Amino acid sequence: MSETIFSRIIRKEIPAKIVYEDELALAFHDVNPQAPVHVLVIPKKPIQSLAHATESDVVLLGHLQWVIQLVAKQLQIDETGYRVVTNIGRDGGQSVEHIHYHVLGGRPLSWPPG
Ligand code: 5GP
Repeated sequence: MSETIFSRIIRKEIPAKIVYEDELALAFHDVNPQAPVHVLVIPKKPIQSLAHATESDVVLLGHLQWVIQLVAKQLQIDETGYRVVTNIGRDGGQSVEHIHYHVLGGRPLSWPPG
């Protein structure tokens, strides 16, 4: 897959407000937040989308969900609740082709999404 803006954030070539980092994952505030808390959780491995993950990524995908929980606690939305979204492909509204989980909270979120 081709290089994305998230690869550059991982390499710290462009700034981001990082809230969590370990050897496998990075979490940072979305530059265009859609809620009081809007963080993106990404793997450092450049997987294009959830649809492109393979069986060898199963442990990594589980780790990302664990990181989501840690970040939600850190940003104090764990008790009020939050939403986790991953957009896939054109109809899913994906604009950056590096798998990412949106973690949205800090206000009541409507359903269904548009
Ligand atoms: P998607 O539309 O692919 O599901 O989500 C991509 C998200 O990445 C969008 O919410 C967008 O605001 C965010 N984004 C795009 N470029 C940057 C950037 O350079 N820095 C940060 N922090 N977020 C970005």
